[in-house]
Amino acid sequence: MKTNEYKFFISDCKVAIENNKSIDISYDIEDISLRNFKSYSNAKKKAANLRQKYINHIDELLVSFEKKYTESGLEVNWAVDYNSLIEDVFKIFSENKIKEVNVFESKFIKELGLIKSLKEEEFTISPQSKKCVIFEPRYAISQTGSLFLEFGSALEMELVMEAEFKIFVFPFNNVLKHVEDIELLSQLYSINKNKSDYLSLTTIYSPTISKEKNIELFIVDNGRTSLLESKEHRKALTCIDCDACKKVCPVYALIGDKPYNNVFTGPVANVVLPFLETVDGCKHLSFNCVLCGNCVKVCPMNIPITDLIIANRNMFFENRNMDFSDRYTVKVLNNYLISRKKLNKKAWRKEILLKFIIKRKLTISRPFPKFAKETFSQSKYQK
Ligand code: SF4
Repeated sequence: MKTNEYKFFISDCKVAIENNKSIDISYDIEDISLRNFKSYSNAKKKAANLRQKYINHIDELLVSFEKKYTESGLEVNWAVDYNSLIEDVFKIFSENKIKEVNVFESKFIKELGLIKSLKEEEFTISPQSKKCVIFEPRYAISQTGSLFLEFGSALEMELVMEAEFKIFVFPFNNVLKHVEDIELLSQLYSINKNKSDYLSLTTIYSPTISKEKNIELFIVDNGRTSLLESKEHRKALTCIDCDACKKVCPVYALIGDKPYNNVFTGPVANVVLPFLETVDGCKHLSFNCVLCGNCVKVCPMNIPITDLIIANRNMFFENRNMDFSDRYTVKVLNNYLISRKKLNKKAWRKEILLKFIIKRKLTISRPFPKFAKETFSQSKYQK
């Protein structure tokens, strides 16, 4: 199936570059990481290994979380995707005559588009209401069956904790094993996201049916199992949304969030969106990277973002998700670039060849580069 998403993406990138509003990206966490950890690189390694281990055994963690959570008489609801979640939420609202909802819009709740659907069904979204709240716990803890809740303010905490009806929604990859795991992950998140020490308002919440009759918990997939199926790509599920990768990405500095038209933006979006959305609609994102590797160096979860982007490119090529003309271009280039004899040909000959195969595509966004008269291996530096 052919889609036009890449055309919109490219034209939005051009607009962003022309506007040239330098995006404020800066990343310098040396002082704060020294203050918080004896060895920041060891802390990163420990956290990354922990998250990776949990993602590799996520099925076991989810089963033990459900077992513990339901011991108190409550139920866990599983939602494969947005449609099944919204269907169940509407059912709960109609059974409980709820018409007014207070939705705390986290990144995941935005990804699900809950507010839009509620408004379409004429529910009132009321930000100060304690009647019914929808909230995303930061983590679920499998060993205790509890939820780790993090709040932006004391008022937010009061509204959630005192709400008559609570609906918790979170993606399945945010399950940890032990309560002790939270501190390290939260510190790394805070340092990288806000360059601050971890001071948020939090609570470990363990609801029981005797105290909380009106509580519903949804664990949602929304496309994440397709990342989980790939041994390589499941590493992206360890992401803690700290945005460090964006702050060092030269491409993101130029184009920002807007061209993505999604809650996922920046380097990690280039990896995950072909899995979470459609391959055809998002494959161009795997080519939205110069493979500088800055993101890999700073990622606190040690996610090999550039390797995953290369894996995406290979996957599209192998699975024939590329247009015929793109496949042809890659084949010809491959054939050319591995031949020293061909690379050493005169510059004008190479220009003619490349003019036919890639010039038209490249000049959409930038001028076609000139070849040097001599290749590096022919130059005096090599003699
Ligand atoms: S990929 Fe790494 S650096 Fe980027 S947001 Fe996720 S955890 Fe942070």
